[in-house]
Amino acid sequence: MSDRVEPSATSEETVDKPSVGAAPVVAVVAETGEGEHRVALVPEDVAKLQSAGFDVLVEADAGKRAWLLDDAYARAGATVVDRSTCLARADVMLFVGRPSDADVKKLKPDQVVIGMLAPLVDPGFAVRLGDRGVTAVSLDTLPRTLSRAQSMDALSSQANVAGYKAALVAANAYGRYYPLLMTAAGTVRPAEVLVLGAGVAGLQAIATTHRLGAIVRGYDVRPEAKEQVESLGGRFVELKSVAEAVGEGGYARALTAEESKAQQEELNGYVAQHNVVITTAQVPGRRPPLLVTADAVSAMRAGSVIVDMAASSLGGNVEVSRPDETVVTANGVTVIGAGNLASTMANGASTAYSHNICALFAHLVKDGKVVVDLADEIQEGVVITSGGKVVNSATAELAGRAASKSLVNGA
Ligand code: NAD
Repeated sequence: MSDRVEPSATSEETVDKPSVGAAPVVAVVAETGEGEHRVALVPEDVAKLQSAGFDVLVEADAGKRAWLLDDAYARAGATVVDRSTCLARADVMLFVGRPSDADVKKLKPDQVVIGMLAPLVDPGFAVRLGDRGVTAVSLDTLPRTLSRAQSMDALSSQANVAGYKAALVAANAYGRYYPLLMTAAGTVRPAEVLVLGAGVAGLQAIATTHRLGAIVRGYDVRPEAKEQVESLGGRFVELKSVAEAVGEGGYARALTAEESKAQQEELNGYVAQHNVVITTAQVPGRRPPLLVTADAVSAMRAGSVIVDMAASSLGGNVEVSRPDETVVTANGVTVIGAGNLASTMANGASTAYSHNICALFAHLVKDGKVVVDLADEIQEGVVITSGGKVVNSATAELAGRAASKSLVNGA
């Protein structure tokens, strides 16, 4: 940006905070996604960005839905302003999700946008950001197997929160005790909970359910999940129909249609035996696999509960779940579609996300400026657009495919 002034070498030692305008600016705005209560930066992290040489602007009420009030940001040293000022003044804009379409129209060349921009779900959006000339950085394409990237891993931090909350939502909807109890009124059998998909969210759901005292079983197509489930007090379910299905980067691969059918049929019996089922299965870049069919749900006992964390507009792990809705089936099963549980624990989720942002910031910023270096493995993953074009290879490939498809359809 033309009015950018590089911070002086002594800015960290300066006693008086420079007024807005003297240093590069990071801006945090309210999220515009439906039902989104999180905020990208929490007051306790304002000082970290200041010590990197930045002034911090926060849109009024940006953190309100996460119980982070303007006062707290102001006390931490941020300046509370309106959204237009944030967009006009920012060198770097922070989001949890992505900027709104109205925001995109106001973005200026050389601004940096950081968020979970979902470029692999919507590569067209990345192309639009590239067209605006902004540098787009997406935390959801971070290479997660690098140990030095772990502190920046927002998918993990948010899945951890969501998995914890899924266990609580399920327990809350279940009309009986979780633990084995011996009371004067009789002995209570423990609840039996099945968690399908034992990645970050599933493992946290298993750990939390175990702490609440239920018997918990976990299932995954990745063999290493067995040891992880067992180390958290769960029992691992092994299916005969699907031995293992490991894809790239340690993630699951999509099952073939035959494998998927066999998996569903074998899971039916397990689903019917459990009081509570929590589903978390995802395959990167694909619609979530269907694990629990309508037939499986109809075989469950009245009072059973299902929480489908994969429920989205793309479909979920449970045939009868609906995103962000609770459905009660004719046979008395409560099916909760819970695709964005992290947002329902917005304070904790925002705190973790904000820490991820600060770790990423420390990696990207040199001398008060975001320095793009695509030779760096982390940046190769997270930098989506730079210099007016899409530079992330996976996103560029998807965008290219989408463009040629629309050319063919248009022809
Ligand atoms: P995810 O959200 O993509 O999927 C959730 C779980 O669903 C995964 O465990 C997956 O194996 C499982 N799944 C997919 N299809 C399934 C099916 N048909 N049946 C049953 N289960 C199915 O995954 P995630 O939780 O974000 O991450 C999981 C992977 O990423 C793991 O390999 C994890 O170790 C790895 N990871 C590594 C690091 C690291 O090395 N630092 C950090 C985070 C995640």
